[in-house]
Amino acid sequence: MAILEVDDLRKLYGPTVALEGVSFQVEAGEMFGLLGPNGAGKTTLLSILSCLLPASGGEARILGRRVGVNDPELRRQIGIVPQELALYGELTARENLAFFGGLYGMGGADLKQRCDEVLAAVALSDRAEDRTEAFSGGMKRRLNLGVALMHRPRLIMLDEPTTGVDPQSRNHIFEEVKRLNAAGVTVVYTSHYMEEVQSLCKRVGIIDHGKLIACDDLSALLRRFEGLIQLRLRPITATLRAQLEALPGVRLSQRDEDTLELQCADVKGTLVRVVPLLNDQQVELLGLESEEPNLERVFLHLTGRALRD
Ligand code: ATP
Repeated sequence: MAILEVDDLRKLYGPTVALEGVSFQVEAGEMFGLLGPNGAGKTTLLSILSCLLPASGGEARILGRRVGVNDPELRRQIGIVPQELALYGELTARENLAFFGGLYGMGGADLKQRCDEVLAAVALSDRAEDRTEAFSGGMKRRLNLGVALMHRPRLIMLDEPTTGVDPQSRNHIFEEVKRLNAAGVTVVYTSHYMEEVQSLCKRVGIIDHGKLIACDDLSALLRRFEGLIQLRLRPITATLRAQLEALPGVRLSQRDEDTLELQCADVKGTLVRVVPLLNDQQVELLGLESEEPNLERVFLHLTGRALRD
């Protein structure tokens, strides 16, 4: 069952086209990654999906219900972790959670118990009674995630949740997101870090200039695009070139006098075949670099640009 359906969604800010007909679906229980560089339209998309911003065209449905601005019924089903921290510095961690839980109508023993659960989930139980203005950036990010979990949403959407956090907090956030997903919560995770999306998400959408330029299983996306082996060799003979070109699944090109590039899906398997050829031909290996297929390369293939310009 699709928990989220996005259909030809458009958004204009005056003359700026922020979303240009974006369509995709997320099934219940999925961890869906949305990868795109700064300014691609990720925040705009999540703001529309979390009932904060009207779309200029198209529509989105969550649990079959059309998304519109200020729909309290729908907001109860979703948890949003915004890029900008939404915390009150003068309140403690527990008071922040209790405040936001209260906005969703929680109270009494349930609210207290949920605060304890969420504090433990984001590894802040020992700082529960401290004012959040004294927290590190990473601790604030973790509490920001906690706020979104208070009302036990079925769908949680995170907008670049690890921006500016230390590695330890990043791991806490990763672990909690994985635990939530394992417990059946559907996750939409946006990031401009391909490593995060690649390690967390099974299905990935790539967004650029307001358009979804690819959307598929991570493994299928990586299969479609190749890895790279760069060899610096001396001498590069016609025989060697012919032998390398004849390797299965290899596309060969020469960068300069000393450098050959082999594009291939199976980087490790190709390397194993290349080494004996170099020995046979008594070629000196001056340098070797290899890169497995990854989302950075997928993005480069699709746009001609690096993800992080
Ligand atoms: P980032 O990773 O930097 O947050 P993003 O992928 O979330 O980027 P958006 O913030 O959605 O991208 O921005 C998409 C485009 O819309 C950009 O060109 C941006 O400048 C523009 N934009 C965003 N918000 C506004 C606004 N309130 N008014 C005008 N233009 C805006």
